Amino acid sequence: LMHLTKKLIEIRSMLLSIDQSDTLKLPSIVVIGSQSSGKSSVLEAIVGHEFLPKGNNMVTRRPIELTLIHTPTGTNGQTVEYGEFPSLGLGKITDFSQIQKTLTDLNLAVPASEAVSDEPIELRIYSSNVPDLTLIDLPGYVQISSMDQPETLKEKISALCEKYIREPNIVLAVCAADVDLANSPALRASRKFDPLGLRTLGVITKMDLVPPEQGSTILSGNRYPLHLGYVGVVCKPSGKKVHRETLNVAARRGDEYFRDNREHFYSASSLMVGTDTLKKRLMEVLESSMASSLHGITNAVQLELEEAQYQFKVQYNDRRVSPESYVAETIDTLKGRFKEFMTQFRKPAVRAKLKSMLDERVMDVLEQLYWSDKRVGEFTALGEDKRLKPDDVEPYWKYKLEAASSLLTKSGVGRDATLLVADGLRTLIDSIAAGEPFNFHPRASERLVQFAHMILRDRIPLTSDQVENCIKPYKYEVEVDEREWEIGRNEAIKLFERELTMCEEKIKEIRKKVGGSRSLNNLMYYVRDLEEKEQERKKRRTAQMTAGEEIADTPLEESYKYPAAQLVDARHAALYSGRLSILKLRLAALRSKRCKSGPESDLLCPEAFLNVVADKLAYTSSMFINIELLDQFFYQFPREIDSRLLYDLDRKEIVDFARENPTIRQHLDLQDRKDKLEEVMKRLNSLSILRTDVQATPRRP
Ligand code: GDP
Repeated sequence: LMHLTKKLIEIRSMLLSIDQSDTLKLPSIVVIGSQSSGKSSVLEAIVGHEFLPKGNNMVTRRPIELTLIHTPTGTNGQTVEYGEFPSLGLGKITDFSQIQKTLTDLNLAVPASEAVSDEPIELRIYSSNVPDLTLIDLPGYVQISSMDQPETLKEKISALCEKYIREPNIVLAVCAADVDLANSPALRASRKFDPLGLRTLGVITKMDLVPPEQGSTILSGNRYPLHLGYVGVVCKPSGKKVHRETLNVAARRGDEYFRDNREHFYSASSLMVGTDTLKKRLMEVLESSMASSLHGITNAVQLELEEAQYQFKVQYNDRRVSPESYVAETIDTLKGRFKEFMTQFRKPAVRAKLKSMLDERVMDVLEQLYWSDKRVGEFTALGEDKRLKPDDVEPYWKYKLEAASSLLTKSGVGRDATLLVADGLRTLIDSIAAGEPFNFHPRASERLVQFAHMILRDRIPLTSDQVENCIKPYKYEVEVDEREWEIGRNEAIKLFERELTMCEEKIKEIRKKVGGSRSLNNLMYYVRDLEEKEQERKKRRTAQMTAGEEIADTPLEESYKYPAAQLVDARHAALYSGRLSILKLRLAALRSKRCKSGPESDLLCPEAFLNVVADKLAYTSSMFINIELLDQFFYQFPREIDSRLLYDLDRKEIVDFARENPTIRQHLDLQDRKDKLEEVMKRLNSLSILRTDVQATPRRP
């Protein structure tokens, strides 16, 4: 049967780790007593070591789930004794004062405002001097409320104890011999939940403090009968501080006390005295209690297991996950997504992106150099108006065209093109890092972004220099052949058509906003009028100033006929319609025979020419960005992921990482629960076989 308790204690620990529900509970011994009743001394006598927190006002603030595991003595007769805090991961602790210190720290960590916490501390002690037992040490009942032990503490402790006193636990009620049992809070509490005293074992401490006759009377239990009886002990006879080495000596001395008074204790055979007797009694009580729980707990576990298996089938189709496989899967997903996105950065795509950036720049150059030029009329008439002599006008427009081309080539294309592509990459990585499953893993996501940025930071200066170098020839001369010209001309037409539609859209929008085309026309007239007046005023002022006259400050018109927002709209509309007419003119020019005739007409069609330049720039840039930035990035980034993203995680970090994802966490939790229940069930089944075997063995006559 010894075997059975040990196994059931193991099963009990497993059940505790599955959940804290009441259905899956095997009994334990709950130790209660008032402060100074000698509770700690009893526990330490059982363990054979001093290990509980001591000191002024050092009450136990958290329940201690104490599991004692009997280990066989080594072959050399030496005993190995150590403790373990399973949830702290501190490993084996052979120094019991270290255990004491850890318990003290854990106690002190409970905030003063809470006073006590019902979160248990798990402690296992392995020794060949201990029996297989599970004990729960609870905060001692407070007798007197004092300044630093407020009333609520008293209630909190009572509530905490009550939680543990319930079935199927066994109550070990610790009472001091020199205190009237009628006043023992431990007995009172136990009686509340175990009125018949079926599950309560009394321990009478400090037997040396009362006359032996009185002691033996208490132990006989006639006044307050308990089914499991009373055990009398003497743990610290002198009340002096007992050292580790002397605990056993003390126990022996405690036993001596009973031997010295044998006529009172040993003659009456039914009395139980001494720590050894207490240990034995505890084992017996726990064993029979565990044995009688066996059937019930087996059924309960079976039910829970079936439920867990069913859920696992329904929710996950019995598919297992492991934190490791999840990490591997995450890396694969990441690489897959990255590859998918890479297609956006193939050469033609990059080239198109750069081209559209340069197209915009061409528009700016045109606006800056041509459309605002006062001689633009002469320019548009060039080639049409026979009266204009080419020699008079051409040098000017030739110079213009060169300026335009150089504005484009020298506008920092290398840097801007590189940054444009790098930005695209960054956005891509950012979006991967923000999406599933990285939204669940903020630290990994941050690291991902960091790697990407680091690679980009390294490559950007190099790439932009390289690109700038390679487009250098275009800064001096751009040669255009027939085919290129035709393409450029067509592209320019397309660009202008797009721009034209955009301007029309804008004007339409404004027209709608101000209430129709009439209102818009009126508004525009009004604004033009205002502007002319303003021009007049300025002219007058300059004239006055140059003439040295005193400036007569003609006041601005005080109030406008229209709200300011509408005036702004009208100005915009004027700008768009101005651009619209230019665009129409230029489209006509681009479509003209002259322009179609080929690159010699570049003076007349700067748009086509600049488009060819932009295209050459885009082509060259994309080629070098591809080599210097993209290829490097696509090579380096996956390697960074492999070697640095989740590479040096230990088992715990891998588990933590996987559990950051709620879906995986639920999956792992259910799987874990199912596994543990299966294991428990297996063990319980083997126990039942064991038990039937025992029962089936015929008794010897
Ligand atoms: P707890 O507060 O209930 O944990 O009680 P302790 O185990 O700390 O004991 C309270 C006091 O009683 C301490 O000063 C112990 O030395 C003393 N004490 C404990 N057991 C005995 C005993 O068997 N005999 C005597 N005389 N004193 C004891």
